[in-house]
Amino acid sequence: MDLFEEVERIIDQGEICDSCMGQVFAERGHGLTNRERGTAWKTILAMENNNIIERKVDCWVCLGESYRFEEWADLAVMELGEIEFKTYKIGTRMSPLLDENAKLLRELVGVPIDSGESLKTEMNREVGKIVGDRMKKYFDADGPDIIILLNVPTRSVEIQVNPIFIYGRYKKLIRGIPQTKWPCRECKGRGTSIHGVCERCEGSGKQYEESVQELIDSVAIIQMEGESSTFHGAGREDIDAKMLGTGRPFVVEIKTPKKRSIDLQVLEENMNKNAFGKVEVELEGVVNRKMVAHIKELPASKTYEARIKFDRSVEKDMLKGALEMLDGAEIKQETPTRVVHRRADKTRIRKVYSARGELTSDLTANLEIHGEKGLYIKELVSGDSGRTNPNLTDLIGVEAVVETLDVISVVAEEGRFDVPEYILRRKDKEGLEE
Ligand SMILES: [Zn+2]
Ligand SMILES: [Zn+2]
Repeated sequence: MDLFEEVERIIDQGEICDSCMGQVFAERGHGLTNRERGTAWKTILAMENNNIIERKVDCWVCLGESYRFEEWADLAVMELGEIEFKTYKIGTRMSPLLDENAKLLRELVGVPIDSGESLKTEMNREVGKIVGDRMKKYFDADGPDIIILLNVPTRSVEIQVNPIFIYGRYKKLIRGIPQTKWPCRECKGRGTSIHGVCERCEGSGKQYEESVQELIDSVAIIQMEGESSTFHGAGREDIDAKMLGTGRPFVVEIKTPKKRSIDLQVLEENMNKNAFGKVEVELEGVVNRKMVAHIKELPASKTYEARIKFDRSVEKDMLKGALEMLDGAEIKQETPTRVVHRRADKTRIRKVYSARGELTSDLTANLEIHGEKGLYIKELVSGDSGRTNPNLTDLIGVEAVVETLDVISVVAEEGRFDVPEYILRRKDKEGLEE
């Protein structure tokens, strides 16, 4: 079928707007809008047949939707209100009726039903262009700050504000607080029981009054006017362990933030003020979502400081000899008795990279142990009734237990935690380059 024939058959189906006509030929002629394509055909036909072009038409295909792009853009700009963003993506929920009409047109004309372009694609592009130009924002298909959804059936615009991810390191200076919020064991986080307010948590719904997460993210939520947050740590320390030294990498995800162009230096200072004496943070920058998986998956070795206690008095040389045996050793560990009720019982092999230490009295010692990710230190010392081998207790011949255990460094074993392509903005840099 030649093009003229196709065009005439389109005209024969009823009144159609220039855009809907041009859409069928969207693959032809670069640098033209669909409307221009349609107008061109109508001009040619009017000249050939010497009749008058009907400027105002009641289009049976789009029912006038192709001429409402400006209106949609107005609606989007209004909905966006005070939301701060730099990049956006736009999507359209098309009405089933208009989809049907476009399909029907193509069937009647005798071209494949997916020929040319759909109104949906055209709307995304054209409305997107208007919004972008008007608000001076940038289209970003992969990681936009916001997504604008044009809902044709309801004639409304919905805005989805994507989370912002902030990457940093934290130190936990005190014992007794968990890394993340724990729901109350008694009321399962509801804060109430059948008797009214839950007695265990006094209505807070939390097992512990504070957590590293809350100390850090409450400040970020306020400053960025977010709705909630999720805390992603590169592993976690025990509740009764401090996290010292160089700190532990984390990403805090702030959901639905109204403010994005926050000053990270100020945010960091406010976090440290809020968590003073308990938690200390150092923020690195704003990152993309990929950083979350990266810090969670990257194997990280840890160095611990353990204060241990012996059952009987120990000589300097006994400890020294035992630590020399552990230094560089491969340890066979069955799942510790203390966690076996909630974790699979299996045997793992973990390396002790280094083991050092000295007696602080004839019954106590301080150890510094650097171990592979997943090495259980308490069991390495006690032996866990023979479930960990070799172990300090057996090597010395005197029962030893860990009294306090602190993490003094977390180091990525392969590659670094800082992945340049995941970092969108550094703390010390102002905004994205435009
Ligand atoms: Zn139309
Ligand atoms: Zn409770």
